[in-house]
Amino acid sequence: MSNKNYNKAKVLIVGAGPAGLATAIQLKALRPETEICVIEKGAELGNHNLSGAVLEAEPLHTLLNSAVPGWQENAEAKEVLASKINKDNIMFFLGRKISFNIFFAVRLAKMLRLGFGQMLHNGDYSVSISRFTKWLGRLAKGLGVEVLTGFAAEDIILAPLDGSNVGQKASISEKHLTGRDESNSMAPAVLLRRSEAMGVKLVDQGLDKDGNRQPNFVEGETINASFVVLAEGCDGLLTEKFIEKAGLRRQSPQLYSVGVKELIKVSGEQYNKFSCGRVVHAMGFPLWTPVLGPGMFGGGIVYAGVKEHLSVGIIVGADWKYCDFNPQDALSNFKEHRFVKQFIEGGTVVEAGAKMIPEGGYHAIPRDPETGTIGKGNVLILGDSAGFVNMLKIKGLHNAIDSGMQAAKAITETFDNREMAALRYTELIDKSNIAREMKSAMNFRQAIAKFGPLQGMPLSVFGRLLPKFKIEKDYEAMTTARYRLRGSREFDKDTFTATAATEHREEQPSHLTILDSAICKTKCTPQLNSPCITFCPAGVYETIHDEVKPANPSNCLHCKSCQRKCPFDNIRWTVPEGGGGPRYKRM
Ligand SMILES: Cc1cc2nc3c(=O)[nH]c(=O)nc-3n(C[C@H](O)[C@H](O)[C@H](O)COP(=O)(O)OP(=O)(O)OC[C@H]3O[C@@H](n4cnc5c(N)ncnc54)[C@H](O)[C@@H]3O)c2cc1C
Ligand code: SF4
Ligand code: SF4
Repeated sequence: MSNKNYNKAKVLIVGAGPAGLATAIQLKALRPETEICVIEKGAELGNHNLSGAVLEAEPLHTLLNSAVPGWQENAEAKEVLASKINKDNIMFFLGRKISFNIFFAVRLAKMLRLGFGQMLHNGDYSVSISRFTKWLGRLAKGLGVEVLTGFAAEDIILAPLDGSNVGQKASISEKHLTGRDESNSMAPAVLLRRSEAMGVKLVDQGLDKDGNRQPNFVEGETINASFVVLAEGCDGLLTEKFIEKAGLRRQSPQLYSVGVKELIKVSGEQYNKFSCGRVVHAMGFPLWTPVLGPGMFGGGIVYAGVKEHLSVGIIVGADWKYCDFNPQDALSNFKEHRFVKQFIEGGTVVEAGAKMIPEGGYHAIPRDPETGTIGKGNVLILGDSAGFVNMLKIKGLHNAIDSGMQAAKAITETFDNREMAALRYTELIDKSNIAREMKSAMNFRQAIAKFGPLQGMPLSVFGRLLPKFKIEKDYEAMTTARYRLRGSREFDKDTFTATAATEHREEQPSHLTILDSAICKTKCTPQLNSPCITFCPAGVYETIHDEVKPANPSNCLHCKSCQRKCPFDNIRWTVPEGGGGPRYKRM
């Protein structure tokens, strides 16, 4: 397929992250003649990808061993996978100075076959996901995949088919809907409703701020395809639209966390002291306040990068209750802890950014209520868009890649019968390691959401013996409580945004909408002091003439936190023109 006729593809993949690119690579290996198009909203591959990242490499090896023989000899592969983890620290921070290594507890949990035992990382790789994605993209292109950057999709086009119930008995039993394997029980005979996606619509280019067409206006094209693969990452716009349009359901609401991360250039002495191949995960301060207390779920990370760079970040469950909390403040506190400070003091932040993680686990996977399929008909939902993150490991990359491989197999097997693709995909997922992991972790995050980290963590060892808790959406957790741990300096959002190198064409309609400004004025500001102004990492929201507005949309980092954490569910995020957003290079 040439660049000129990109408006038609056999398989259209939305999102050039690990999940989408793994699909493309595997599919080219299985069916080389297939026309595959991957569209990515970032200006370049890797620009919108941010992760830790500890990579569990088995799915990657399986993928590339079959699709790209000899890949390990490639110089870029060696560079991307240069940092193999040989020192795995799991710490508990008590206050600002004290730290314990609790690695032995995790080893013990592994011996006792408890869920926490999965939290081990020796033998994995510490990678930059931006570089990793760029490399996968190059491999895909080398195999003949059309990878188009700067192409932002705003909607999925569905066509109703005649006679929507075709009397097709689904082979998938109730177990998907209950989360428990009830394969021995009588599964009800359900009907598979037929629907078909025709393709996706791209964002219009060249509108002014008021939505008027400018001379350079280009209407967003529709890319038609026989199969649509949704690999948009966390809280995907098309994915959520599709879930609504096609009537998919989650058993529990999706839970999110917000990750903020900095890449810090440190001195050679500090880097050697930290040591190459080392990763640190730390619980406790500053999220469990003031020392233990009922607090927030999450923790900090310090990972060795290459050439005197350390990745330092904090991941916070978005069910935090403090109306004046900003994850960046927590990162400042984390960086000031004595243990972390020794490695980064005097260093330079060379890149920074923020992104969300879907944490709801097995119960939050969107499924067709009748058939249990993850997607429907010829639409498949992958990776973070499906919520395949194992929070016991704090990892989603391996599952994203694995889901891409399963999607490719499903498409290959249903090539001439595309309405069965989602069904086959789900069968393959259910037999894969993804399902095993997701089930093993199914009540971990849920227990913490229900009871808080202090009670929820120990309770979660009962794993699948626990009932499915009724949990609230993240934004419903916000209260008037205040976060007491101020960092010693206010976080400078301008510097943060500048290091994320984010930019959008200024003269375009805002991609952020406050649905009802009266709610801001009469409820949120008086009661909670407008949390969006505080927690948005890019300073997008401001009060102008007594009204809260997304005043600086061009600063947006596409983290989507505002859409999930506005306490009145009053913000909507849509995709801006292709090519806008952060320009991560080494995140
Ligand atoms: C702070 C943080 C730390 C993490 N640490 C780890 C870790 O150590 N190990 C681990 O395994 N996992 C980790 N994860 C999770 C991991 O990064 C994800 O599970 C993984 O990136 C999911 O891959 P994906 O391909 O599904 O989505 P993504 O990597 O998010 O890729 C999706 C792509 O789709 C594009 N896109 C989205 N919408 C559109 C659209 N409408 N049109 C066009 N393009 C679109 C995006 O720009 C993006 O490039 C971490 C995540 C975060 C945020
Ligand atoms: S947008 Fe949401 S968080 Fe911001 S002021 Fe309005 S209601 Fe509050
Ligand atoms: S406006 Fe919303 S999506 Fe953009 S950076 Fe702020 S919180 Fe994130």
